[in-house]
Amino acid sequence: MPFNQLIGHDRPKAILKASILHDRVAHAYLFHGEEGIGKKLAAILFAQTVNCETPYGDQSPDACGTCRSCLQIEARTHPDFLLIEPDRELANPQIKIEQVRQLEEQIVYRPLVSPWKVYLIDDADRLTQGAANALLKTLEEPAAHSLFLLVSSRPSALPTTVRSRCQNIRFVPPARVQVEAALITQRNLPPDDAHFLSMIAQGRIGLALRTDLAEARKQQHEFSSLTDPATLRSIATILTAAESLHKSDRALEALEWMERWGRDLLLVRLGADPDHLLNRDRLPELQRAAASVQPQLLAEVLEEIQAVERHAGRNLNLQMALEQILLHLRDAVTSTAPAR
Ligand SMILES: [Zn+2]
Repeated sequence: MPFNQLIGHDRPKAILKASILHDRVAHAYLFHGEEGIGKKLAAILFAQTVNCETPYGDQSPDACGTCRSCLQIEARTHPDFLLIEPDRELANPQIKIEQVRQLEEQIVYRPLVSPWKVYLIDDADRLTQGAANALLKTLEEPAAHSLFLLVSSRPSALPTTVRSRCQNIRFVPPARVQVEAALITQRNLPPDDAHFLSMIAQGRIGLALRTDLAEARKQQHEFSSLTDPATLRSIATILTAAESLHKSDRALEALEWMERWGRDLLLVRLGADPDHLLNRDRLPELQRAAASVQPQLLAEVLEEIQAVERHAGRNLNLQMALEQILLHLRDAVTSTAPAR
């Protein structure tokens, strides 16, 4: 896949291409920005671009995607390309010092077949202290023709000494319309489904491309009955739902869908363009519900949900939190005195 097909990230692309064009490729880069937006893919494409065997002529620098070098980097079999990443199967994934040692052993040799020896360190913030120190030594005295690409969604967790040795390039989530377009072309989705998934992913292109559409639609349907004002009128139903969602470990999932629904409801109430709605295909229901919503109360419920999401995992009683939020949501969406 040529570099140009990376969704979004126009600024990083321009910077990286200019560095090749003007022969100013740095020895180390740190690609940082939110998780799942395409940083690692950008690093792989940049590695392909610097080592591509097909001349780009008077076009801008790019990977052809089809030469031996591009294919080997994609298959991770290129002799001058090493991908270092934490073992994600572990509870606390780390990049260990042995992995950096392996890199040190290789780096002393010149590239075997390509102009650059590329070391891609994904989730670089997972380097152990020892590994980071070892890497720092290498970064301080870079071998000619070595190119380090560090990728991180938590750059503040990296030692400042490592960060300052890298050219920092910030990645921002691609625009929703770009994600939507990619879903239509790459997953062959109809526009409505592409819109739906791009709204769920919020710019996380990787997530948008791998989310199970049928499953997401099932959840949308299931939780829409939970937030239906008719359901919320019954306190008994609220308590039962909170209990069973908590027992099946789905409280956070429920909160996420309630938040999406609530946000849409506020937007409809404010007269926003339906294109900004995740549940765009449920516009008539949203309009009906929005007619009796109390915006201030609903905004408070949304804040409450976000607070719970931030603190989940810290000994929080999720069942009780879910009950509270459902009760508050009931107050917000049923403006007339609720019947029991
Ligand atoms: Zn190529």
